[in-house]
Amino acid sequence: MITVAEEENEMTTAESVAAADADSIGADEMSGSKPLGSDFKTVGEVRVTDPRMTCTAVNVYYGDKHAIKDVNLDIAQNEVISMIGPSGCGKSTFLRCLNRMNDTIDICRVTGEIKLDDIDVYDRKLDVVPLRAQVGMVFQKPNPFPKSIYDNIAYGPRIHGLVASRAELDEVVESSLSKAGLWDEVKDRLDQPGTGLSGGQQQRLCIARTIAVEPEVILMDEPCSALDPIATAKVEELIDELRENYTIVIVTHSMQQAARVSQRTAYFHLGNLVEVGDTTEIFTNPRHKLTEDYITGRFG
Ligand code: ADP
Repeated sequence: MITVAEEENEMTTAESVAAADADSIGADEMSGSKPLGSDFKTVGEVRVTDPRMTCTAVNVYYGDKHAIKDVNLDIAQNEVISMIGPSGCGKSTFLRCLNRMNDTIDICRVTGEIKLDDIDVYDRKLDVVPLRAQVGMVFQKPNPFPKSIYDNIAYGPRIHGLVASRAELDEVVESSLSKAGLWDEVKDRLDQPGTGLSGGQQQRLCIARTIAVEPEVILMDEPCSALDPIATAKVEELIDELRENYTIVIVTHSMQQAARVSQRTAYFHLGNLVEVGDTTEIFTNPRHKLTEDYITGRFG
């Protein structure tokens, strides 16, 4: 016979499975709403043997809001690393730290250390203009200058004094457009406005513009989110080719894209870098429950 108390405690199988799940994961963590403790340590190897950039104890605040919490991460040479995680978890904020783009936001404060090779990125004496050429950026929405296709590419090398003659500039324009897979499509209309190209071509033009100033690292903030699937496929192919010569850090909301283009993946949650590792491992065998919840679609 079952007593009333026992009866009240009886659960259906489905309820008990859900409760066990909630118990092991933590109800708040399941919903992805619980911040991790201040002693949290990223799961996975944050350091690499051949770093191009080294981030140590990076914190970012917007006023009182603590947007990036004590992040340590190396970016390796010639790798594509993806930053993934739910909206608002800090992916773009972290990306913008890497070339001091956050400097343009008054209430933003960054602490910790970020190095590009031996250069201290946050050295007060450092000129951010050449830094942003070395660590270039491609934005979500293609943003060509209101200039000709030629001048979109030529602008950077001219202001950075990278070329001595018109012939040299012509070469840089051609090689940058070729590396961005756009030369054949635009070589006969270099004097036409960059804004007249299709969305996908505009984004490749912006990538060519970034390449033209000889960067070491290219930061990409959801570069395909405004593109159709065919243009997206072209940009993804391009990212793979560019890896030979550059290091690429890409923020994406598409896990499929992260899986297709990157060798390493970093998963962020409420400002913490929860887990980093080989992309295949992250997607097939995540080590942290929050990573698993996100990639299996439990939240995000
Ligand atoms: P994600 O790229 O993962 O969507 P963001 O880096 O854009 O996340 O944002 C991280 C957190 O910082 C969010 O809570 C967001 O609201 C806040 N944030 C981002 N930019 C600003 C800003 N300019 N001013 C104040 N808060 C900001």
